[in-house]
Amino acid sequence: AFDVDGATPARCCPASGTLYNTNTLEAFKTIDKKALLDKAASEIWSVIQSGAALEDSSILNKFILLTFAISSLQTAYDNLCASSGTTAVPHFLLKYTDESVEVAPLKDLNSFFPDLKKITVGVYDPCTLPQHPGWPLRNFLVLLAKKWGSQLDVLEVLCFRDRTLQGSRSIRHSIIFRVKLPDLTASAVCPKSVGWEKNAKGAMGPRSVNLSECMDPKRLAESSVDLNLKLMRWRLVCFLYVIFCEYIIQNAEGYNMSIPMPGHPVNFSELTMAQARQDVEQLEKLISEHDVVFLLMDTRESRWLPTVIAASQRKLIVNAALGFDTFVVMRHGLKKPKESQSEESSPMSHAFCSLSGASLFSNIPGHRLGCYFCNDVVAPGDSTRDRTLDQQCTVSRPGLAMIAGALAVELMVSVLQHLEGGYAVASSSDDRMNEPPTSLGLVPHQIRGFLSRFDNVLPASLAFDKCTACSPIVSDKFTCF
Ligand SMILES: [Zn+2]
Repeated sequence: AFDVDGATPARCCPASGTLYNTNTLEAFKTIDKKALLDKAASEIWSVIQSGAALEDSSILNKFILLTFAISSLQTAYDNLCASSGTTAVPHFLLKYTDESVEVAPLKDLNSFFPDLKKITVGVYDPCTLPQHPGWPLRNFLVLLAKKWGSQLDVLEVLCFRDRTLQGSRSIRHSIIFRVKLPDLTASAVCPKSVGWEKNAKGAMGPRSVNLSECMDPKRLAESSVDLNLKLMRWRLVCFLYVIFCEYIIQNAEGYNMSIPMPGHPVNFSELTMAQARQDVEQLEKLISEHDVVFLLMDTRESRWLPTVIAASQRKLIVNAALGFDTFVVMRHGLKKPKESQSEESSPMSHAFCSLSGASLFSNIPGHRLGCYFCNDVVAPGDSTRDRTLDQQCTVSRPGLAMIAGALAVELMVSVLQHLEGGYAVASSSDDRMNEPPTSLGLVPHQIRGFLSRFDNVLPASLAFDKCTACSPIVSDKFTCF
């Protein structure tokens, strides 16, 4: 507080002092600090001798605050800019004392410094080096040497550095120094120029910059994906496929459609029938054009038709379903082409035949894994904990959708990293200690999460040969239809 009579806050002892403010760093440096301190000490000594300190002992807490404020320089510069109708002038003239700063435009040099004994000039300096002026000073010095080199005794240069750091403007990085100028007034020869900046190859030649790198949003997305992949590769060391970066760059397209659902009739009118037909066609077309289908719906029945279509087209489905504080993220089994599965018409019986002492639910290859609807009948490995969640799907804890969505994407990426893709053998919770099958780790069939316990389990389950969505008979009938 600058107010001597100002109120003192509760439980605070007042300490009054003197603020010595200089306008330049030079003045700050040259001020006689010892004299200031001696003066303050003798003042305290005198109040001790006179006994005044006994009456008011707060005088003992006297302090000196010695500062240098360059705010007046900043203000003077800003005024000059305002009068020139700009926010920055490259060069200016400067006169300063301990009390004041005066700034004038360059063209007023003769009137501003009548005797030219010692002049100070300012350069608006972009350089960040603490000891060196920036390039813009060079030609300015040549100008001064040519015009006034014979008259000038001492030239002082202020490199005025105007920064905005973390929201606040500062000119405290400015530097000031003296220069001895050569006399170029009589010289008619152009001084030797220093031209080329070294280019990327270290040669004195032109530099080329591809501006599309920093302007094109697609290129920006590419480079950030590229960086992310590089960092991932660096972490994982092993080789990663980079196919998925193309998916990221592709522009997303949205479609608004109603998916026909079992138990929700559409045969009210010709119009609703035609609309449903159109929606099915569109859905089939979209699924056929893509490699992975994410099912992120809010009802069980709305997942049925996409599951049937994707099963008949043998597309990978990643499905996420939410409860209140539980979720399931799973990949549907990816059926093999007809020819290669002729002798395995019944996956269930085959699996029973090939039981090798291990759990029924371990080492299930991708083409024998169940879908979301198979699990209605075939219980997952950990049946005491993993119940179906669809009936409670309206209210969810706020983080659940994001966690499940993120896991769905990670599951797809892990599947893509596996050499066998969607046919990859399902990892289970038991595999957590084993060597992972991909550089990114496990490739589970399902991730069932329990937010209340912050726990995930990785069950796997077989396809059911009478499944309402993915069984061969349903797929065949659907394809014929
Ligand atoms: Zn199924």
